[in-house]
Amino acid sequence: MQYNIDSLPHNDQTCGWINNLPSRGSFPVLAGKHLADWVVIGGGYTGIAFARRMAEANPNHKIIILDAGAIGEGASSRNSGFAVATSSSGEAYNPAKLAEFKRINRINNAGIESLRQIVTAQQIDCQWRDVGKFHCGAPSTSAKAADDFIHWLEAAQIPHEDLSQAQLSKRLGTAYYRRGVWTKADVMLQPAALIRGLSDSLPENVTLHDYSAALSVEDKKGLIHIGTAKGEVIAKNMVLASNAFLHTMTPSPSYTVPLTMTASLTRPLTKEEQTLLGDVQDWGILSLHGMGATIRYTADHRILIRNTAAYNAVTPLRSSQMLAAQQTHLLCLRQRFPMLEELNFEHSWQGVLCISRNSSSLFGKLADNIYVSGCYNASGISRGSAMGLALADYALGDNNQLLSDALAYPAPTWMPPRPILDIAMKAEIMRRKYGTGPDA
Ligand SMILES: Cc1cc2nc3c(=O)[nH]c(=O)nc-3n(C[C@H](O)[C@H](O)[C@H](O)COP(=O)(O)OP(=O)(O)OC[C@H]3O[C@@H](n4cnc5c(N)ncnc54)[C@H](O)[C@@H]3O)c2cc1C
Repeated sequence: MQYNIDSLPHNDQTCGWINNLPSRGSFPVLAGKHLADWVVIGGGYTGIAFARRMAEANPNHKIIILDAGAIGEGASSRNSGFAVATSSSGEAYNPAKLAEFKRINRINNAGIESLRQIVTAQQIDCQWRDVGKFHCGAPSTSAKAADDFIHWLEAAQIPHEDLSQAQLSKRLGTAYYRRGVWTKADVMLQPAALIRGLSDSLPENVTLHDYSAALSVEDKKGLIHIGTAKGEVIAKNMVLASNAFLHTMTPSPSYTVPLTMTASLTRPLTKEEQTLLGDVQDWGILSLHGMGATIRYTADHRILIRNTAAYNAVTPLRSSQMLAAQQTHLLCLRQRFPMLEELNFEHSWQGVLCISRNSSSLFGKLADNIYVSGCYNASGISRGSAMGLALADYALGDNNQLLSDALAYPAPTWMPPRPILDIAMKAEIMRRKYGTGPDA
């Protein structure tokens, strides 16, 4: 078995969540030869959760995490900061799929609870806010989308509220949305602060390396040799937690696809601007419609907009594409908050998440000593944290509800190789009108 990794993440250095934190010390670049019980490729929510559980269960094991960039500064820092407890199925209620709906939401909740425990025990300052989340829509079709979602929530007995335009306007400070559903258990947070806190609080038998991309992977007589630019790890076991980059590892099967998202964050609103919104607390909105905008009013009074998605394989967006995305974010901001006419963005960035054709995750064993978990669409804070834990449980031979839920994922369905994949993905992005459809 031999993998040649042909594509690596790019850091645009412009992520507002990261740049609003104090500058961080760096983990050393891997140099020389190292032996390990476990090597984890990718230091995001999945890789960190796996390493924590495995290190706690085996204090004598040596665990090495390699990241191509700064640990945690990939999608784990660049997302919108929704720790999702309740995922929407996005379709009309179907009792045949209720068990699946409940299973996914059990995984999400297990992730949130594990994060809550660590954040509390380690006193991680990440603007953790138990404020739930809103699913809102402005077009006339939103009423049906809300009714469908509520049907699922009632069937699964998930606490929620059905909200009219007037109620939404009072709670959000914008009259833009006609209908909304609030789910109670979701958490809003500052993702870069969370992943930094998680990686800084790992047990001592975990060693982390920034800027140490796995460039080659070779199995030699049961030991895995991972080559980086300046060093090598020889490990008994390997975990692939590189998410959007999983498919760049050949012979990785063609089951997952990267999707590049962009987001912008404003400066904090002034006291006068806050008054214009009314008496509102911080909130997060997902669209009731698949292609709509994600918006947050953060605990520190900034507004975040994420409403574009592009398929660029793993090539970074060009500056002209970023400018176009920023214009779309600005339009979205002005439509919802015409009274905040002086407000502009301080930061805009891109990040890559991982999707599959059947919206399933990749979880399990690729070989006796090679494990993988990834591809959670846009719910990786809670789900990646849960799946990383479950993967460690799997490797440890444990048996629990979380692991059975993770193992119940159907495998992601096969997709054609590039360049056919590229053509199909670009057509799909146009069809779904990301950034231009209802609620964009
Ligand atoms: C703009 C945006 C908004 C999103 N919003 C949300 C949200 O609100 N809520 C939510 O839950 N999720 C959201 N997501 C998705 C979420 O960020 C991901 O699902 C989550 O980060 C997945 O975690 P992970 O650890 O599996 O992968 P990642 O966070 O992608 O981490 C993988 C790591 O692997 C590293 N890597 C890649 N190749 C190599 C290599 N060859 N060698 C070493 N390291 C490598 C990368 O540098 C990266 O750090 C969003 C994503 C984006 C981009």
